[in-house]
Amino acid sequence: MNIPMLDLSEQYQHLKGEIYEALEQVMSSSRFILGENVKKLEKDIAKYSHVAHGIGVANGSDALHISLLACGIQPGDEVITTPFTFFATAGSIARIGAKPVFVDIDPKTFNINPGLIEEKITDKTKAIIPVHLYGQAADMDPILEIAKKYHLAIVEDAAQAIGAEYKGRKIGQFGDTACFSFFPTKNLGAFGDAGMIITNNDELAEKMRVIRVHGSKPKYYHHVLGYNSRLDEMQAAILNVKFPHIDEWNELRRKKAAYYNELLAELDDVVVTPYEEENRYHIYHQYTIRVKDRDALQTYLKEQGISTMIYYPLPLHLQPVFADLGYKEGDFPESEKAAKEVLSLPMYPELKQEQQEYVVAKIKEFYRKSS
Ligand SMILES: *Cc1c(COP(=O)(O)O)cnc(C)c1O
Repeated sequence: MNIPMLDLSEQYQHLKGEIYEALEQVMSSSRFILGENVKKLEKDIAKYSHVAHGIGVANGSDALHISLLACGIQPGDEVITTPFTFFATAGSIARIGAKPVFVDIDPKTFNINPGLIEEKITDKTKAIIPVHLYGQAADMDPILEIAKKYHLAIVEDAAQAIGAEYKGRKIGQFGDTACFSFFPTKNLGAFGDAGMIITNNDELAEKMRVIRVHGSKPKYYHHVLGYNSRLDEMQAAILNVKFPHIDEWNELRRKKAAYYNELLAELDDVVVTPYEEENRYHIYHQYTIRVKDRDALQTYLKEQGISTMIYYPLPLHLQPVFADLGYKEGDFPESEKAAKEVLSLPMYPELKQEQQEYVVAKIKEFYRKSS
């Protein structure tokens, strides 16, 4: 059996007719930049997230970068985030010339540990970027409290978490802004790069709309230095077809996760299944376990036709590009430990029960052979 990490073909076959029609409409209209499709998606995702504004941008990384610019982050400022995330979270900070200041994770949820944030705050600290990793909301209440106390902006990195909830509320409505990525492998994926920022703040929304069009307002008059970073109509048209399915797809991911949990239960001496914090609606962008002998297990599964991934093998404080930040091994023990133990299993809404059973049978086989 061959089981990929993610298989988008069934979803595509199901939506093909609608997608062709949507693309045909864009092509016939000859309106390719910031037209009706982008407007509709912005409106629908803002409404879904219970905020006033959506701002379509070129990708999730730009969403973070533009959010920080709009929040007034400048060279020399410090922005607190987790070292156990995709590079872009901290890359967006460094691209401004600001300094990423890392805080270790909670080993159970893999999200930033709010109890360790306050000791990292200095008079240069201007913002916090909590990441809702793997599709589970970070612990927002204590983070919001700290942000209020020290007057910090919050930019939610929601790239992996559209539809996830924290205490009954959709993520994305807690921060000053929140950032989505529609990279093809995300839960809501385009057919190329795409992203969106949402915010409830009218002033920030206006700033971000200006930044994404070269800082131009009115057209050809430039008061701020912006970028060319727009979500294009073709991608928005595809996303408009897919977005109405997001809740159903997330619910299916949760079912697959529950089935993996059930199948893996008897391996509890070697496999730690994902921990769902109380009052969270986890949407399992990734189904990530901790395991013994991770690398050998991954190789074994690969030989059996099963793809798995390591998100992420090297925490950001140890990345060569951040060497000048002065961090060293041992600074964030939980992130470093997680990087050595995590393994993400195949996960997508169309994953079949037999496939899940095969994955878990092969994991069992590996530990039986190696014991
Ligand atoms: C995917 C991702 C991003 C970046 O999104 P792109 O659209 O690929 O630029 C940022 N942060 C996290 C946590 C991500 O998973």
